[in-house]
Amino acid sequence: MTKEETAIGWNLDNSYTNLPKTFYSTDHPTPVSSPRLIILNEKLAQSLGLNPNALKSEESVAVFAGNRIPEGANPLAQAYAGHQFGHFTMLGDGRAVLISEHVTPAGERVDIQLKGSGRTSYSRGGDGRAALGPMLREYIISEAMHGLGIPTTRSLAVVTTGELVARETNLPGAILTRVASSHLRVGTFQYARQFATVDELRELADYAISRHYPEIEAGDGRYLMFLQEVIKLQAELIAKWQLVGFIHGVMNTDNMTISGETIDYGPCAFMDTYDPETVFSSIDTQGRYAYGNQPYIGGWNLARLAESLLPLLHEDQDQAVEIAQNEIAACMKLSHTNWLNGMRAKLGLFNEEEQDESLVNELLSLMKKHQADFTNTFRSLRYDEEMELSGTTEFADWHVKWEERLAKQKESKEASQDLMRKSNPVVIPRNHLVEEAIEAAENGDFDVMEKLLLALSDPYEHTPEKVEYCKLPPQTNIPYRTFCGT
Ligand code: AMP
Ligand code: MG
Repeated sequence: MTKEETAIGWNLDNSYTNLPKTFYSTDHPTPVSSPRLIILNEKLAQSLGLNPNALKSEESVAVFAGNRIPEGANPLAQAYAGHQFGHFTMLGDGRAVLISEHVTPAGERVDIQLKGSGRTSYSRGGDGRAALGPMLREYIISEAMHGLGIPTTRSLAVVTTGELVARETNLPGAILTRVASSHLRVGTFQYARQFATVDELRELADYAISRHYPEIEAGDGRYLMFLQEVIKLQAELIAKWQLVGFIHGVMNTDNMTISGETIDYGPCAFMDTYDPETVFSSIDTQGRYAYGNQPYIGGWNLARLAESLLPLLHEDQDQAVEIAQNEIAACMKLSHTNWLNGMRAKLGLFNEEEQDESLVNELLSLMKKHQADFTNTFRSLRYDEEMELSGTTEFADWHVKWEERLAKQKESKEASQDLMRKSNPVVIPRNHLVEEAIEAAENGDFDVMEKLLLALSDPYEHTPEKVEYCKLPPQTNIPYRTFCGT
């Protein structure tokens, strides 16, 4: 390593290249004309054991831009496949390169990936590039998810390239440095099942186990345990999305990780007004990935993972299918239980009672009927504030039931309010706030984004500075639309 790289604290390693060659291609980033650091996540850098000041050096920015490969790195593009809106396709990193893995001082292994770094063997017709707006969007929303306590890939830095990318118009090009506990996806296993041998599939599964579930021991049944672990983490993850009104927007199987982290912030957005049918993505014309569908799609995607693992689950394929089906059925139940427990916490309830689900559903139907804001309704319940539902007799009736239910538990009112405070964010990255921050940044003013990021880093505390972020978007008749592949 160079002196500069040692000063940064890089501790690079390349375990992915121990996998069979079919799983990747040794593609390098394509250099860009004039890199400029736009934002660096200093806190994340520190938590990875990296020196933020050293990361701002010209040499380091050249790494973020793909113009320099650090010593000891072995860049590659990963192969994967996936069901996109239900259709199976060969994919792979078409505009991303895994520069290297980094092992933190605490011994955690993370991928350091450049997104928007140029064409690879898997680019098909794409230019391999990304525009500044969408990369800042990924930066803001992934960091907001982290602030909310939701497992996610992280964003270490964004650089502009000094080059234009051709979209509907010419836009400033940018590269995001993404940090993930790995980029293994359901689609990586689908790729292995479709295009590799069973031995290679087994190697991939063993690799995923050693990286994410090292507690799973060798022996029969380890691949079933692996499937169960992924199901458990994904059922937790999707419940967490539902509880804050997050809509991923493009839950294709290539966008679902094996680690249980949220990945790929393309057309995602947070719901304002509560409506389970909410869709933001311009290409999701059928509402496949609508808010209310996410738990089912999660189950569908995990069924594709189970299917890919069939040869490892049992010698007898009929029995393997039965095992897989049982796991998927359990997954749907698990996801529902996680959601219901999370909703209980949002309402300040500690214990479980049979009527809780109808109490939750009654509130949700009132919110839908009165077009209430999802985040603000729960916040207002906690702080006893005026909101859309206030003043209606239906809500007054519901409130009485809720208070009766609260009175039945042994925990104090204060404990219950504290639980609600911890379970209901005050600030979420509302679409209008994110758009405003990106627009300012595109015009060279980074203050708006920095302030928003600060508020989003601590979303559960109701402080005076947060008030401006709680405001609802201006009323408009034009539905908010997001775009992917941008
Ligand atoms: P996504 O919708 O971001 O999950 O991407 C789906 C697939 O398209 C992945 O294989 C990406 O690598 C690829 N892709 C997206 N944008 C581009 C681009 N500009 N150039 C090449 N490949 C791309
Ligand atoms: Mg993707």
